[in-house]
Amino acid sequence: MVPITRDLLLKLPKTDLHCHLDGSMRLRTILDLAEQYKIRLPADNEDDLRNLIVMKDGCASLVDYLKVFDVTLLVLQTDEALERAAFELAEDAARENVRYIEVRFAPILHTNSLLPFEKIFESVIAGLIRAEKRYKIKTGLLICAMRNFPADQSHIARRLHDRLYTLTEPELSRLLAVHTAKVTAILSQKYPTIVGFDIAGPEDGYPAKDFYEAFQNIINGHLSITVHAGEAYGPDSIEQAVKYCHAHRIGHGTRLIEAKAPDRLHTLYGYFKDKRIPLEICVTSNVQTGSVRSVADHPLKVYLEDKLRCTICTDNRLVSETTVTDEYVKICDAFHLSCEELYKLIIYGFESTFLPYQDKEEILSEVEPILARELLPGKLL
Ligand SMILES: [Zn+2]
Repeated sequence: MVPITRDLLLKLPKTDLHCHLDGSMRLRTILDLAEQYKIRLPADNEDDLRNLIVMKDGCASLVDYLKVFDVTLLVLQTDEALERAAFELAEDAARENVRYIEVRFAPILHTNSLLPFEKIFESVIAGLIRAEKRYKIKTGLLICAMRNFPADQSHIARRLHDRLYTLTEPELSRLLAVHTAKVTAILSQKYPTIVGFDIAGPEDGYPAKDFYEAFQNIINGHLSITVHAGEAYGPDSIEQAVKYCHAHRIGHGTRLIEAKAPDRLHTLYGYFKDKRIPLEICVTSNVQTGSVRSVADHPLKVYLEDKLRCTICTDNRLVSETTVTDEYVKICDAFHLSCEELYKLIIYGFESTFLPYQDKEEILSEVEPILARELLPGKLL
Protein backbone atom coordinates (compact mmCIF):
# COMPACT_ATOMS: atom_id res chain seq x y z
CA MET A 1 0.00 0.00 0.00
CA VAL A 2 1.25 3.50 -0.87
CA PRO A 3 1.93 5.59 2.28
CA ILE A 4 -0.32 8.66 2.33
CA THR A 5 1.99 11.59 3.10
CA ARG A 6 1.51 15.34 2.91
CA ASP A 7 3.81 15.41 -0.14
CA LEU A 8 1.64 12.89 -1.91
CA LEU A 9 -1.56 14.76 -1.01
CA LEU A 10 -0.03 18.00 -2.24
CA LYS A 11 0.94 16.40 -5.54
CA LEU A 12 -2.43 14.80 -6.29
CA PRO A 13 -4.91 16.64 -8.54
CA LYS A 14 -7.80 17.90 -6.39
CA THR A 15 -10.93 20.05 -6.41
CA ASP A 16 -12.20 22.78 -4.07
CA LEU A 17 -15.93 23.26 -4.56
CA HIS A 18 -16.68 25.37 -1.48
CA CYS A 19 -14.39 28.35 -1.14
CA HIS A 20 -15.38 31.93 -0.28
CA LEU A 21 -13.48 34.73 -1.98
CA ASP A 22 -13.74 37.13 0.97
CA GLY A 23 -12.55 34.46 3.43
CA SER A 24 -9.62 33.30 1.33
CA MET A 25 -7.49 36.39 0.71
CA ARG A 26 -3.79 36.73 1.47
CA LEU A 27 -2.99 38.80 4.56
CA ARG A 28 -0.38 40.76 2.61
CA THR A 29 -2.97 41.67 -0.02
CA ILE A 30 -5.43 42.97 2.58
CA LEU A 31 -2.69 45.27 3.94
CA ASP A 32 -1.60 46.37 0.44
CA LEU A 33 -5.14 47.22 -0.59
CA ALA A 34 -5.81 49.09 2.65
CA GLU A 35 -2.72 51.19 2.04
CA GLN A 36 -3.63 51.78 -1.60
CA TYR A 37 -7.19 52.91 -0.79
CA LYS A 38 -6.34 54.65 2.50
CA ILE A 39 -8.60 52.34 4.46
CA ARG A 40 -8.07 52.05 8.21
CA LEU A 41 -7.91 48.46 9.31
CA PRO A 42 -8.09 47.31 12.93
CA ALA A 43 -4.45 46.13 12.51
CA ASP A 44 -1.56 47.42 10.40
CA ASN A 45 0.80 44.42 10.22
CA GLU A 46 0.50 40.77 9.22
CA ASP A 47 0.86 39.33 12.72
CA ASP A 48 -1.81 41.50 14.31
CA LEU A 49 -4.12 41.05 11.34
CA ARG A 50 -3.64 37.28 11.51
CA ASN A 51 -4.61 37.33 15.19
CA LEU A 52 -7.78 39.20 14.32
CA ILE A 53 -8.86 37.23 11.28
CA VAL A 54 -7.58 33.69 11.59
CA MET A 55 -9.72 31.35 13.68
CA LYS A 56 -7.00 29.53 15.55
CA ASP A 57 -8.89 28.05 18.46
CA GLY A 58 -12.34 28.28 17.04
CA CYS A 59 -15.16 30.62 17.96
CA ALA A 60 -18.46 30.40 19.76
CA SER A 61 -20.70 29.97 16.72
CA LEU A 62 -21.18 30.44 12.99
CA VAL A 63 -22.38 33.99 13.68
CA ASP A 64 -19.05 34.81 15.43
CA TYR A 65 -17.10 33.18 12.62
CA LEU A 66 -18.85 35.40 10.08
CA LYS A 67 -17.89 38.62 11.91
CA VAL A 68 -14.29 38.60 10.66
CA PHE A 69 -15.48 39.02 7.11
CA ASP A 70 -16.22 42.65 7.95
CA VAL A 71 -12.46 43.24 7.79
CA THR A 72 -11.80 41.64 4.40
CA LEU A 73 -14.89 43.27 2.92
CA LEU A 74 -13.48 46.70 3.75
CA VAL A 75 -10.82 46.32 1.07
CA LEU A 76 -12.90 44.41 -1.50
CA GLN A 77 -14.92 47.32 -2.84
CA THR A 78 -13.21 48.10 -6.18
CA ASP A 79 -12.95 46.25 -9.49
CA GLU A 80 -9.17 46.11 -9.17
CA ALA A 81 -9.27 44.63 -5.65
CA LEU A 82 -11.83 42.00 -6.65
CA GLU A 83 -9.83 41.00 -9.73
CA ARG A 84 -6.65 40.68 -7.69
CA ALA A 85 -8.28 38.67 -4.90
CA ALA A 86 -9.87 36.26 -7.39
CA PHE A 87 -6.61 35.82 -9.30
CA GLU A 88 -4.58 35.20 -6.15
CA LEU A 89 -7.08 32.70 -4.78
CA ALA A 90 -6.96 30.66 -7.99
CA GLU A 91 -3.16 31.02 -8.01
CA ASP A 92 -2.90 29.69 -4.43
CA ALA A 93 -5.17 26.79 -5.32
CA ALA A 94 -3.20 25.97 -8.48
CA ARG A 95 0.03 25.89 -6.46
CA GLU A 96 -1.33 23.00 -4.40
CA ASN A 97 -2.55 21.19 -7.52
CA VAL A 98 -6.20 22.04 -7.27
CA ARG A 99 -7.23 21.42 -10.87
CA TYR A 100 -10.71 22.83 -10.52
CA ILE A 101 -12.01 25.41 -8.06
CA GLU A 102 -15.46 26.87 -7.64
CA VAL A 103 -15.08 30.27 -6.01
CA ARG A 104 -18.15 31.83 -4.39
CA PHE A 105 -18.95 35.34 -3.29
CA ALA A 106 -21.92 37.61 -2.63
CA PRO A 107 -21.81 40.61 -5.04
CA ILE A 108 -24.15 42.65 -2.81
CA LEU A 109 -21.40 42.82 -0.15
CA HIS A 110 -19.11 44.60 -2.62
CA THR A 111 -21.38 47.52 -3.50
CA ASN A 112 -20.25 49.92 -0.76
CA SER A 113 -18.30 52.12 -3.23
CA LEU A 114 -21.26 52.03 -5.61
CA LEU A 115 -19.44 49.81 -8.10
CA PRO A 116 -22.04 48.75 -10.71
CA PHE A 117 -23.44 45.30 -9.98
CA GLU A 118 -22.40 43.83 -13.34
CA LYS A 119 -18.86 45.17 -12.91
CA ILE A 120 -18.56 43.32 -9.60
CA PHE A 121 -19.30 40.00 -11.29
CA GLU A 122 -17.01 40.82 -14.21
CA SER A 123 -14.04 41.76 -12.02
CA VAL A 124 -14.04 38.42 -10.23
CA ILE A 125 -14.47 36.54 -13.50
CA ALA A 126 -11.54 38.48 -15.01
CA GLY A 127 -9.28 37.47 -12.11
CA LEU A 128 -10.26 33.82 -12.40
CA ILE A 129 -9.69 33.78 -16.16
CA ARG A 130 -6.29 35.46 -15.75
CA ALA A 131 -5.28 32.62 -13.40
CA GLU A 132 -6.59 29.98 -15.82
CA LYS A 133 -4.36 31.40 -18.53
CA ARG A 134 -1.28 31.27 -16.34
CA TYR A 135 -1.79 28.05 -14.37
CA LYS A 136 -3.08 24.54 -14.88
CA ILE A 137 -6.39 25.24 -13.20
CA LYS A 138 -9.99 25.54 -14.31
CA THR A 139 -12.39 27.79 -12.43
CA GLY A 140 -16.11 28.26 -11.91
CA LEU A 141 -17.99 31.00 -10.10
CA LEU A 142 -20.89 30.58 -7.69
CA ILE A 143 -22.93 33.65 -6.85
CA CYS A 144 -24.23 33.92 -3.29
CA ALA A 145 -27.31 35.63 -1.99
CA MET A 146 -27.30 36.52 1.71
CA ARG A 147 -29.78 35.24 4.27
CA ASN A 148 -29.55 38.56 6.13
CA PHE A 149 -27.62 41.84 6.18
CA PRO A 150 -25.96 43.12 9.32
CA ALA A 151 -26.22 46.93 9.28
CA ASP A 152 -22.56 47.59 8.51
CA GLN A 153 -22.02 44.94 5.85
CA SER A 154 -23.89 46.40 2.91
CA HIS A 155 -24.48 50.12 2.62
CA ILE A 156 -26.93 49.57 -0.22
CA ALA A 157 -29.02 47.22 1.90
CA ARG A 158 -28.90 49.75 4.73
CA ARG A 159 -29.94 52.64 2.50
CA LEU A 160 -32.78 50.66 0.97
CA HIS A 161 -33.91 49.66 4.41
CA ASP A 162 -33.84 53.25 5.62
CA ARG A 163 -35.80 54.52 2.63
CA LEU A 164 -38.27 51.67 2.25
CA TYR A 165 -38.95 51.62 5.95
CA THR A 166 -42.05 49.46 5.66
CA LEU A 167 -39.82 46.58 4.58
CA THR A 168 -38.63 44.31 7.35
CA GLU A 169 -35.03 43.09 7.25
CA PRO A 170 -36.05 39.57 6.14
CA GLU A 171 -38.18 41.07 3.34
CA LEU A 172 -35.23 43.18 2.22
CA SER A 173 -32.92 40.15 2.17
CA ARG A 174 -35.43 38.26 0.02
CA LEU A 175 -35.75 41.21 -2.37
CA LEU A 176 -31.98 41.49 -2.80
CA ALA A 177 -31.67 37.72 -3.22
CA VAL A 178 -34.22 37.78 -6.05
CA HIS A 179 -32.38 40.66 -7.71
CA THR A 180 -29.02 38.90 -7.35
CA ALA A 181 -30.52 35.72 -8.82
CA LYS A 182 -31.97 37.56 -11.81
CA VAL A 183 -28.65 39.24 -12.61
CA THR A 184 -26.84 35.91 -12.16
CA ALA A 185 -29.15 34.19 -14.65
CA ILE A 186 -28.73 36.99 -17.19
CA LEU A 187 -24.94 37.29 -16.88
CA SER A 188 -24.45 33.51 -17.01
CA GLN A 189 -25.58 33.71 -20.65
CA LYS A 190 -22.59 35.94 -21.33
CA TYR A 191 -20.04 34.42 -18.92
CA PRO A 192 -19.89 30.61 -18.78
CA THR A 193 -17.58 30.92 -15.74
CA ILE A 194 -20.78 31.49 -13.72
CA VAL A 195 -21.92 27.96 -12.97
CA GLY A 196 -24.30 28.28 -10.05
CA PHE A 197 -25.94 29.99 -7.11
CA ASP A 198 -25.85 29.65 -3.34
CA ILE A 199 -27.22 31.27 -0.22
CA ALA A 200 -24.89 32.12 2.64
CA GLY A 201 -24.99 33.82 6.04
CA PRO A 202 -26.45 32.75 9.38
CA GLU A 203 -28.65 29.67 9.06
CA ASP A 204 -30.57 29.69 12.32
CA GLY A 205 -33.58 32.00 12.02
CA TYR A 206 -33.17 32.55 8.27
CA PRO A 207 -34.75 29.50 6.58
CA ALA A 208 -33.75 28.71 3.00
CA LYS A 209 -37.36 28.22 1.92
CA ASP A 210 -37.97 31.96 2.38
CA PHE A 211 -35.73 32.44 -0.68
CA TYR A 212 -37.83 30.21 -2.92
CA GLU A 213 -38.39 32.94 -5.50
CA ALA A 214 -34.69 33.65 -5.94
CA PHE A 215 -34.02 29.99 -6.63
CA GLN A 216 -36.86 29.85 -9.16
CA ASN A 217 -34.97 32.45 -11.20
CA ILE A 218 -31.87 30.28 -11.08
CA ILE A 219 -33.79 27.15 -12.08
CA ASN A 220 -35.31 29.08 -15.00
CA GLY A 221 -31.79 30.10 -16.01
CA HIS A 222 -30.74 26.39 -16.03
CA LEU A 223 -27.96 26.98 -13.54
CA SER A 224 -26.78 24.71 -10.75
CA ILE A 225 -27.60 25.22 -7.09
CA THR A 226 -25.84 24.62 -3.81
CA VAL A 227 -27.16 25.78 -0.44
CA HIS A 228 -25.38 26.28 2.89
CA ALA A 229 -27.38 23.96 5.13
CA GLY A 230 -27.04 21.59 8.06
CA GLU A 231 -24.11 23.53 9.53
CA ALA A 232 -25.72 25.65 12.26
CA TYR A 233 -29.17 24.07 11.96
CA GLY A 234 -30.47 20.52 11.77
CA PRO A 235 -31.75 18.28 8.95
CA ASP A 236 -34.85 20.47 8.45
CA SER A 237 -32.59 23.09 6.92
CA ILE A 238 -31.11 20.51 4.53
CA GLU A 239 -34.56 19.24 3.63
CA GLN A 240 -35.70 22.77 2.78
CA ALA A 241 -32.63 23.29 0.59
CA VAL A 242 -33.55 20.24 -1.45
CA LYS A 243 -37.34 20.70 -1.49
CA TYR A 244 -37.70 24.44 -1.94
CA CYS A 245 -34.39 25.56 -3.41
CA HIS A 246 -33.73 22.56 -5.69
CA ALA A 247 -30.19 22.14 -4.31
CA HIS A 248 -27.93 19.93 -6.42
CA ARG A 249 -25.29 20.00 -3.67
CA ILE A 250 -25.26 20.97 -0.01
CA GLY A 251 -22.70 23.25 1.64
CA HIS A 252 -21.58 21.37 4.76
CA GLY A 253 -24.51 19.02 5.55
CA THR A 254 -22.76 18.26 8.84
CA ARG A 255 -26.05 17.60 10.62
CA LEU A 256 -27.46 15.27 7.94
CA ILE A 257 -26.17 12.54 10.25
CA GLU A 258 -29.14 13.29 12.54
CA ALA A 259 -31.46 11.99 9.80
CA LYS A 260 -29.67 8.63 9.60
CA ALA A 261 -32.05 5.71 10.06
CA PRO A 262 -31.98 1.96 9.35
CA ASP A 263 -31.42 1.08 5.70
CA ARG A 264 -34.24 0.88 3.19
CA LEU A 265 -36.48 3.30 5.04
CA HIS A 266 -37.35 6.37 3.03
CA THR A 267 -35.42 9.07 4.87
CA LEU A 268 -33.62 12.28 4.00
CA TYR A 269 -30.35 10.48 4.67
CA GLY A 270 -31.25 7.71 2.22
CA TYR A 271 -32.40 10.31 -0.28
CA PHE A 272 -28.94 11.86 -0.32
CA LYS A 273 -27.34 8.49 -0.80
CA ASP A 274 -29.74 7.34 -3.53
CA LYS A 275 -29.74 10.57 -5.50
CA ARG A 276 -25.96 10.97 -5.11
CA ILE A 277 -26.35 14.56 -3.85
CA PRO A 278 -22.85 15.74 -2.93
CA LEU A 279 -22.00 17.20 0.47
CA GLU A 280 -19.31 19.90 0.47
CA ILE A 281 -17.36 18.93 3.58
CA CYS A 282 -15.21 21.56 5.34
CA VAL A 283 -13.86 19.88 8.49
CA THR A 284 -11.61 22.67 9.82
CA SER A 285 -14.34 25.27 9.46
CA ASN A 286 -16.88 22.92 11.10
CA VAL A 287 -14.64 22.51 14.13
CA GLN A 288 -14.09 26.29 14.33
CA THR A 289 -17.79 27.15 14.19
CA GLY A 290 -18.57 24.49 16.78
CA SER A 291 -20.61 22.30 14.39
CA VAL A 292 -18.41 19.38 15.50
CA ARG A 293 -16.05 19.04 18.46
CA SER A 294 -13.04 17.74 16.53
CA VAL A 295 -12.14 16.35 13.11
CA ALA A 296 -12.37 12.84 14.57
CA ASP A 297 -15.96 13.59 15.64
CA HIS A 298 -16.96 14.71 12.15
CA PRO A 299 -19.67 12.54 10.56
CA LEU A 300 -17.62 12.33 7.34
CA LYS A 301 -16.36 8.88 8.27
CA VAL A 302 -19.93 7.57 8.64
CA TYR A 303 -20.95 9.29 5.41
CA LEU A 304 -18.13 7.57 3.56
CA GLU A 305 -18.89 4.17 5.10
CA ASP A 306 -22.51 4.68 4.01
CA LYS A 307 -21.30 5.62 0.52
CA LEU A 308 -22.72 9.14 0.52
CA ARG A 309 -21.04 11.38 -2.00
CA CYS A 310 -18.75 13.84 -0.20
CA THR A 311 -16.18 16.29 -1.47
CA ILE A 312 -13.41 17.90 0.58
CA CYS A 313 -13.35 21.72 0.58
CA THR A 314 -11.68 24.60 2.42
CA ASP A 315 -14.59 27.03 3.03
CA ASN A 316 -12.22 29.93 3.89
CA ARG A 317 -8.52 29.53 3.30
CA LEU A 318 -7.52 32.58 5.32
CA VAL A 319 -10.11 32.63 8.09
CA SER A 320 -9.77 28.88 8.70
CA GLU A 321 -6.02 28.94 7.89
CA THR A 322 -6.24 25.94 5.64
CA THR A 323 -5.71 24.52 2.16
CA VAL A 324 -7.26 21.53 0.39
CA THR A 325 -4.04 19.64 1.14
CA ASP A 326 -4.36 20.50 4.86
CA GLU A 327 -7.96 19.28 4.88
CA TYR A 328 -6.94 15.95 3.33
CA VAL A 329 -4.03 15.58 5.77
CA LYS A 330 -6.39 16.04 8.74
CA ILE A 331 -8.98 13.67 7.32
CA CYS A 332 -6.47 10.97 6.38
CA ASP A 333 -4.92 11.20 9.88
CA ALA A 334 -8.23 11.19 11.76
CA PHE A 335 -9.93 8.44 9.76
CA HIS A 336 -6.94 6.39 8.54
CA LEU A 337 -8.25 6.39 4.99
CA SER A 338 -7.00 3.67 2.67
CA CYS A 339 -5.65 4.59 -0.77
CA GLU A 340 -8.88 3.24 -2.30
CA GLU A 341 -10.99 5.47 -0.03
CA LEU A 342 -8.84 8.49 -0.80
CA TYR A 343 -9.01 7.76 -4.53
CA LYS A 344 -12.80 7.60 -4.37
CA LEU A 345 -13.05 10.78 -2.27
CA ILE A 346 -10.96 12.82 -4.71
CA ILE A 347 -12.90 11.42 -7.68
CA TYR A 348 -16.18 12.37 -5.93
CA GLY A 349 -14.91 15.96 -6.01
CA PHE A 350 -14.39 15.90 -9.77
CA GLU A 351 -17.76 14.18 -10.28
CA SER A 352 -19.54 16.78 -8.15
CA THR A 353 -18.48 19.91 -10.04
CA PHE A 354 -21.03 22.15 -11.70
CA LEU A 355 -19.10 22.00 -14.96
CA PRO A 356 -20.97 21.17 -18.16
CA TYR A 357 -20.94 17.41 -18.83
CA GLN A 358 -18.32 17.54 -21.57
CA ASP A 359 -15.88 19.60 -19.49
CA LYS A 360 -16.42 17.30 -16.54
CA GLU A 361 -15.70 14.24 -18.69
CA GLU A 362 -12.57 15.88 -20.05
CA ILE A 363 -11.10 16.76 -16.67
CA LEU A 364 -12.01 13.34 -15.23
CA SER A 365 -10.29 11.55 -18.10
CA GLU A 366 -7.22 13.65 -17.35
CA VAL A 367 -7.04 13.14 -13.58
CA GLU A 368 -8.26 9.54 -13.23
CA PRO A 369 -5.08 7.94 -14.66
CA ILE A 370 -2.89 10.21 -12.46
CA LEU A 371 -4.83 9.29 -9.31
CA ALA A 372 -4.82 5.59 -10.23
CA ARG A 373 -1.08 5.64 -10.89
CA GLU A 374 -0.28 7.40 -7.59
CA LEU A 375 -2.78 5.70 -5.29
CA LEU A 376 -3.57 2.31 -6.85
CA PRO A 377 -0.37 1.33 -8.67
CA GLY A 378 -0.98 -2.43 -8.51
CA LYS A 379 -4.48 -2.05 -9.84
CA LEU A 380 -3.63 -0.27 -13.10
CA LEU A 381 -5.30 -1.88 -16.06
ZN1 LIG B 1 -19.31 28.44 3.31
